[in-house]
Amino acid sequence: MKFIVDQELCIDCGVCEGSCPEVFELVDDKSNVKLDPVPEEFQEDALEAEENCPVQAILHE
Ligand code: SF4
Repeated sequence: MKFIVDQELCIDCGVCEGSCPEVFELVDDKSNVKLDPVPEEFQEDALEAEENCPVQAILHE
């Protein structure tokens, strides 16, 4: 599973990093996806981060 953060939409709130720090980290005021693809063990937490993003900036495929 691959996760993408829309850099235009991200507002640097940190929710995704809080939900799934193994996958998301804030870099230069934007969320960055550290693992591509995201290993199965972290997918559930990454999907939760996607759901919790207040501006729907996270997508997966
Ligand atoms: S939760 Fe969404 S808006 Fe907040 S830092 Fe992550 S990607 Fe950006």
